[in-house]
Amino acid sequence: MMSAQRTLTEGCEGSPAEMRGSPKWTYYFGDGAAEGGSDMKELLGGKGAGLAEMTNLGISVPPGFTIPTSACVEYYRQGNTFPDGMWGQVSPALHRIEKSMRMKFGDSEYPLLVSVRSGSRASMPGMMDTVLNVGLTTETVRGLARKTGNEWFAQDSYRRFIAMFGSIVMGVPRESFEAILNGKKKEVGVKLETELTVEDLHNLVQSFKLLVKEETKKVFPNDAHEQLRMAIRAVLSSWNGARAVTYRRMEGIPDSWGTAVNVVAMVFGNMGETSGTGVAFTRDPNTGESNFFGECLMNAQGEDVVAGIRTPLPLTELARAVPEAYAELVATYKKLEMHYRDMLDLEFTIQEGKLYMLQTRVGKRTGIAAVRIATDMVREGLIKKHEALLRVTPDQLGQYLYPIFDTKEEGKAVFLCKGLPAGPGAAAGKIALTPERAVEMKVAGERVVLVREETSPDDIHGMDAATGFLTVRGGMTSHAAVVGRQMGKVCVVGCEDIEVIDRQSVRIGTKVFREGDYISVNGTTGKVYSGDIPVMDSEIIQVIQGNLDPKASGKYQLFSTILAWADDVRKLRVRANADTPDQAKIARGFGAEGIGLCRTEHMFFAEDRITIMQQMILARTKEDREKFLDQLLPLQKQDFIGLYRAMKGFPVTIRLLDPPLHEFLPKREDLMVDVARLELTGGASVQLEEKRQLLARVEELHEFNPMLGLRGCRLGITMPEITRMQVRAIMEAACELAKEGKTIVPEIMIPLVGMVSEMKSQKDLVREFAQETMNRYGVTIKYLVGTMIELPRACVTADRIATEAEFFSFGTNDLTQTTFGFSRDDAAKFIDFYRTGKLLDADPFATLDREGVGSLMKQAIVGGRKTRPGIKLGICGEHGGDPSSVVFCHELGLDYVSCSPYRVAIARLAAAQAAIREEEKEK
Ligand code: PEP
Ligand code: MG
Repeated sequence: MMSAQRTLTEGCEGSPAEMRGSPKWTYYFGDGAAEGGSDMKELLGGKGAGLAEMTNLGISVPPGFTIPTSACVEYYRQGNTFPDGMWGQVSPALHRIEKSMRMKFGDSEYPLLVSVRSGSRASMPGMMDTVLNVGLTTETVRGLARKTGNEWFAQDSYRRFIAMFGSIVMGVPRESFEAILNGKKKEVGVKLETELTVEDLHNLVQSFKLLVKEETKKVFPNDAHEQLRMAIRAVLSSWNGARAVTYRRMEGIPDSWGTAVNVVAMVFGNMGETSGTGVAFTRDPNTGESNFFGECLMNAQGEDVVAGIRTPLPLTELARAVPEAYAELVATYKKLEMHYRDMLDLEFTIQEGKLYMLQTRVGKRTGIAAVRIATDMVREGLIKKHEALLRVTPDQLGQYLYPIFDTKEEGKAVFLCKGLPAGPGAAAGKIALTPERAVEMKVAGERVVLVREETSPDDIHGMDAATGFLTVRGGMTSHAAVVGRQMGKVCVVGCEDIEVIDRQSVRIGTKVFREGDYISVNGTTGKVYSGDIPVMDSEIIQVIQGNLDPKASGKYQLFSTILAWADDVRKLRVRANADTPDQAKIARGFGAEGIGLCRTEHMFFAEDRITIMQQMILARTKEDREKFLDQLLPLQKQDFIGLYRAMKGFPVTIRLLDPPLHEFLPKREDLMVDVARLELTGGASVQLEEKRQLLARVEELHEFNPMLGLRGCRLGITMPEITRMQVRAIMEAACELAKEGKTIVPEIMIPLVGMVSEMKSQKDLVREFAQETMNRYGVTIKYLVGTMIELPRACVTADRIATEAEFFSFGTNDLTQTTFGFSRDDAAKFIDFYRTGKLLDADPFATLDREGVGSLMKQAIVGGRKTRPGIKLGICGEHGGDPSSVVFCHELGLDYVSCSPYRVAIARLAAAQAAIREEEKEK
């Protein structure tokens, strides 16, 4: 491969602007050498880098040049103007293509045509624009016909070009061209475009030009260079098109990256039956199986396959029609996969039996495929385990947990039709026929299945809202399939037994449905059913719950293999937030190494306890309260015994009661209504009196700002009898198990501490009651007393708090709330607004805010360690299960993260990736 160094000097040839030191705005590739390679993705975009790399590898690629992403950045910086010197460098680059192709751009004898295609560093399937056949004019189209001896092909290319250029560059709606085309097909009585005659195509060209004139009041440009200039501008502008912007928000791609523009000599897949175009994956992107997999259309051009307009044929068709080109394609994919050591997505065109590669990039895949490909490639010796671990995103791993249809119910359901299975899992929901309806229905709280003829990048908001999508046309590489795979949505495509009747109704199989009716879609088999089939747990969860033999589940084997590798490298431990023995068992099944947070209040909501709890709260004296607490104690003890047993010796952190007491009582407004109703109807006086008393107590406990009221350690401080009951339950459970010979190390955690005095007051109580319990049992147990760190004051006085606390666990839910002053229960209302307005990059309740909350955490860590070197540090806010926050926790040097049981596997992988990346940085 040619190095970037050589590239830069070589690229200076023939460009006066560059020679004067102006930046390099074009990177040529062709004739076996390129000014770039796969290591220049940031500058050349994925497509440009791939084309350059393939050229360097000696693979047959049409010559072309890439205008780098830096030009796009500059284009926007200068207010939508080409950067200085850029256009000047286009001409010499174009000459090099002309020389290589022995053709001339705009020439009536040997006309060169080019494609102008976007390509950013992250793949954004179909979100930006591409213009093919640039350079076709009234003169060059004649030259093209003469040169190829194929008038039909020349006219077909010309009508395609006018429609594409007219819509993308000149803004005429694409549907208007389609309407004219469909009208023509009807008029002459044909079904396929390939059945149109030269004269029909010629008429279409005229009608299309007329349409452009009417719609834009401008004549369709007939100068090749002007077309090129306009096409480049359109592609640069499409970076900021609505689709691209929405997609970037969804995928977290920065606006600042910009797109590259690739100008490539056209090769033609529409030159007859030995020509064609296609896309392929070197392995199955849905399952990860090692099968070369692709689709093609004979006598078709460029975007026809990806756009899903005609359902493509399998590659076997290509092998039959053009066996030599197919053999070369197979050899090429093998060479490329060995070279890139990854599953690739390829685009190719065959022009009269000769293969040309138009794109190679790392292929999008489902999570199921990602793990399979990564583990297979380790076995095949292509990559190392560390690399395999970096190849699977934590979210992709999460796809292993997607629900599947209940097999019994699926067997009973009414089968409608079958399409191609393109996205994992199972989805049942109400039919939406437009993306707008999908969004509305989602907002109304419905599960939605979006049904479309085919999806286009304009549908992206509806696809985001839907749990699954189903399309009539398009293959495994159509827009719906590619996007579905990437979003991890259930997706079935190419279901030709569907007919969208109008905007409200659709026929699926033999049955007609209205928007809002239920259907069920199986993304693994491609089957579609009527009704709302209940889902059941994924294979992984079935194994964890003991309902499926791990050896019988291939998915479980893959899942556990990659996680075992993760465990070998990660430094962070992963615990779970679990409140019940059942949750604790699931957490263990997912590999949790202890409980990082047991919210004891959740234990009081159970049916047999809430009444006792309410009576305890209603009690007016300490003695009365103790009476009810004594009833709660054995129940809590049983819970803790269950947790300890499930955790089999791993640490269990139990937090004392945290929420304000009124949360356990009925709502004030409901009680007021009850009282008023009883008063009006003259209901039983005993009942009325009870309600009045309850209301009076609720009013007494009412707080204007309960999140900052009597909660956390303030409860235990003002009502020490609550702390006493809980400590006794924790320690009695531990003592009883100790007597069975089990080692239990409870970690007793005090919530919402802001001052060392609070910590000391609660710790003294804990110690007193723990000792009293151990004395009663005649057993000594090692236990720790620590605190949640969830207030800014706790962070800045952590050195003082650590004099009393033996461990810290960051409660980043409250710490985020109190640092920002955003109510964690209400902030959703404005956070979206903040994100759209770019006031916030991410929701700080989902992804840890490193700048603010993170700084406070750092301060707390320094303070804690100063007083108590080696103090145990963890996190138990929701961020403990968010991959990017896990990376931050690794960087902070925490001992563990604690998250929901279902996120444990994701956190294990994220922690491993953080460790590997750190190791790589240090190298
Ligand atoms: C926290 O605040 O981060 C926390 C874990 O506690 P809770 O969510 O129960 O307030
Ligand atoms: Mg909290």
